[in-house]
Amino acid sequence: MSVADVRTVFDVLYGAYGPQHWWPATTDFEVMAGAVLTQNTAWRNVERALANLRAVGALEPAALMALEPAHLAERIRPAGYYNIKVTRLRNLTAALLDDGGVEGWRSWSTAALRQRLLGIKGVGEETADSILLYVYHRPVFVVDAYTRRIFARLELLRGDETYRQVAAVFEHALPADTALFNEYHALLVRLGSECCRPRPRCSLCPVCVMCPTGRAQAGGSAER
Ligand code: SF4
Repeated sequence: MSVADVRTVFDVLYGAYGPQHWWPATTDFEVMAGAVLTQNTAWRNVERALANLRAVGALEPAALMALEPAHLAERIRPAGYYNIKVTRLRNLTAALLDDGGVEGWRSWSTAALRQRLLGIKGVGEETADSILLYVYHRPVFVVDAYTRRIFARLELLRGDETYRQVAAVFEHALPADTALFNEYHALLVRLGSECCRPRPRCSLCPVCVMCPTGRAQAGGSAER
């Protein structure tokens, strides 16, 4: 994938969709909780889980840890995999509190904080990078399933690259600009959820003209 490709996709998406105002949360801890809750589920389900936590004042680290695990599970049930996510949320929150809360991690280097986050059971690369970007404003590119699907269909990724290989493509092609990385990921989520679904809706897609998959769809059977 060339630098031009990476920039062109961004320019086209930004032109079509405009700013996405991410991350959709009001506090840093809410971003962290959302980054765990969104694993393997749609954001609308996460919003319901977050609303349940907010309703009992548990969107704050100490308050969340004070909730009985069974009660926490009940609150986050809409986000799915709730028993696993209880453990993951508590693991992340315990580590956060051990290190001085949200502010405690602010002075850490990006590499050290990523290593710390990845050492927490249940925090993978995407969750760690979401926290680095959207809480700590570090210029890291968040790679998710939408990113992989879109760029594989654009034939700009092979599809078998590791997480870090994909992230490196974007991080080398773009200036280390947190706002740009924030916006790019949000735009890809919008494209992936609205158009580049498992069954793509290419006729609605802003990047259709540069997409072999989209052109094949247009030339063959029309989207149903
Ligand atoms: S044209 Fe179709 S396959 Fe290509 S990125 Fe857009 S929605 Fe996905």
